[in-house]
Amino acid sequence: MTRSWLDERLEKGFSPEDLRALLESDERDFALISEKAVEVRRRYFGDRAYIRAVIEFANRCRCSCLYCGMRLGNQGAAGYELGADEIVETAATALRNGIRTFFLQAAESETYESGWLTDVIRRISGMGMEVILCVGFHNTRDLDDWHSAGAGKFILKHETSDAGLFAGMKPGFSLTDRIGMLRVLQKHGYSVGSGTLLGLPGQSISSLVGDLLLMKELGVQMSSVSVFMPASGTPLADHPSGDPELGLRFVAAMRLYLKNTLIPATSTFEKLIPDGQYRCFEAGANVITVNMTPPRLRDDYTLYTNRFFVGLSHARETIARAGLTEASEENRGALR
Ligand code: SF4
Repeated sequence: MTRSWLDERLEKGFSPEDLRALLESDERDFALISEKAVEVRRRYFGDRAYIRAVIEFANRCRCSCLYCGMRLGNQGAAGYELGADEIVETAATALRNGIRTFFLQAAESETYESGWLTDVIRRISGMGMEVILCVGFHNTRDLDDWHSAGAGKFILKHETSDAGLFAGMKPGFSLTDRIGMLRVLQKHGYSVGSGTLLGLPGQSISSLVGDLLLMKELGVQMSSVSVFMPASGTPLADHPSGDPELGLRFVAAMRLYLKNTLIPATSTFEKLIPDGQYRCFEAGANVITVNMTPPRLRDDYTLYTNRFFVGLSHARETIARAGLTEASEENRGALR
């Protein structure tokens, strides 16, 4: 692989074979790819990086994803829902600390009322914060209410573009419905984000290439990759973690192929390899999310077991170390 090979693809586009070559690159080529990914990030975002705060406000789920500790019927997970005041106070704390984007995340559930969430969004948005939702499937009336209340972005990860693997990992759900929901969100005015879970059993490089193609086709504004880590009490509790080095190649491939998306340095990287999130920034990421779920509840949001919780000082140090400057997502458009 050479610089001119990459430049040509950046100009004319990457074929599926080219994307495969990015994902299968050796260390020498990956150094070149990362350098180029950082160059592309600079072209679209300058030296800016973005900090979000996330609160995981409810963990009861109606789904049974094989990889998730919050799956229906996992006896190990204690259920909780946070009250509106505690959520809004947490958002206020984030704002006082200079974080202007608040990310409301919950397991897929109807245990909280749509109107209740509308009120929470309105209060947080009323403080001048940008609100992102990641709450799974909901009807269009709820989506409209939440959008009107101030939620402008919605993340719904497709997890895998392999329809068979998707059906096996998320019993009762189909990839087609998930893609349809992403399009519905776009139609209802949201900026959308999707993402891949890398390291699922039976996942191939071809299906990871398919993930990149799918995110491009959807025209997502936010794209992500998390590396699979096992959660206890699940059917995949003994399955080995995904490969973080392949994950870093996926980050760089997203930057080169999707170019102007917001790409988070997800916490699984930090858990799996030293300086994992810094290395994501070195591969082209530009977002880091601080976990503001109350410490008493964090261990009950069991996407995987023994999570790494990103603190504000770690987030700021990582951004500074990558030579970037903290900025607000709402002002990101200036260079585009
Ligand atoms: S991954 Fe999400 S939808 Fe699936 S069981 Fe876990 S919380 Fe529920």
